[in-house]
Amino acid sequence: MTKIGVIGAGHLGKFHINNLKNLETVDLIGFFDIDSKRSQQISEQYDVDSFDNIEKLLKNCEAVSIVTPTITHYEIAKTALLHGLHIFCEKPFMHTLSQADEILKLAKETNRFIQVGHIERFNPALESIEHLILEPLFIECHRISPFNPRGIDVSIILDLMIHDLDIILTLVDSPIESIDTSGTPVLTDTIDIANVRIKFKNGCVANITASRVSDKQIRKIRIFQKDTYVNIDFLKKETEIFSIKNNPNIFKNEPKSIASLHIGETQEKNIYYSKNESKNTNAMLEELRSFANSIATKTEPSVNGRDGLKALQLALQIEEQIKQNLMKI
Ligand code: NAD
Repeated sequence: MTKIGVIGAGHLGKFHINNLKNLETVDLIGFFDIDSKRSQQISEQYDVDSFDNIEKLLKNCEAVSIVTPTITHYEIAKTALLHGLHIFCEKPFMHTLSQADEILKLAKETNRFIQVGHIERFNPALESIEHLILEPLFIECHRISPFNPRGIDVSIILDLMIHDLDIILTLVDSPIESIDTSGTPVLTDTIDIANVRIKFKNGCVANITASRVSDKQIRKIRIFQKDTYVNIDFLKKETEIFSIKNNPNIFKNEPKSIASLHIGETQEKNIYYSKNESKNTNAMLEELRSFANSIATKTEPSVNGRDGLKALQLALQIEEQIKQNLMKI
């Protein structure tokens, strides 16, 4: 069993604690939070030891899960690596690129693994289309939420859009040619609503919208490619596939024809459709299981520190361009 501790027992940290407690491959040693009142409450609620000092916790663990505000990730990650621990770090990986570079370098020197909490990679909706060969021409993302004061220490790009940026960077195997952005603060001092159009050198275009000041919640990625269109709903954990090809490499279930075009007397072209009901798995439990498994088997995590850095790099580039545009107004 891998001995893991949790740093930060706030809104998300309590889910880390609960999921790690339920993982049969993990020995949850305890957690540390700077808020002693919160620590006592969470310790009682989940029946888990709380430590009053980070060093004491680190000394008893092989790995930690860092679930504190983004601005604190760097110091905690550095301390944990210097204690010889593997790290699971919530997204965004770090606050600046130089911090991310330094932490990756230190992880390499200390021969420790880093996994970053890009949780959507473990969403069963995304996993249900793993069999598809994806060569996107156009990607449309909407990640929209009602306002919640948590997470506003960073912009919407680092808070929510970064989930889609990470997925897009795994879907499109091509360098970025250009980015065009718009965005603005609404309720907070940082950007609350943003849109970016990313053009890749291979011609693929990704149009991404994120907002944390909406009246509803949407988390969708639509992927358009030659012959096939895929609609992924991360909230409902379901995918829809539309294709003019009806073959088992595309459809796991028998599709139905939703449109047909007769060509001459004998030929017919159809649009086939099928909805994938995904497994109702818990993405956080799966990402933490994967982290523990990486440590036990000494294999690189599937969402590693370099992935965290790449998503952060793009997010910061988008944020900077929006800030520059706002200064011109
Ligand atoms: P939160 O404010 O609810 O909780 C943060 C907790 O960390 C608090 O209890 C606070 O007392 C504690 N803390 C602060 N500084 C500390 C320090 N130096 N040492 C120990 N404890 C400290 O925040 P949250 O919503 O739980 O977010 C935490 C992290 O998780 C952020 O990086 C956020 O971006 C990330 N997050 C990720 C997702 C996701 O989808 N993967 C969702 C929400 C939040």
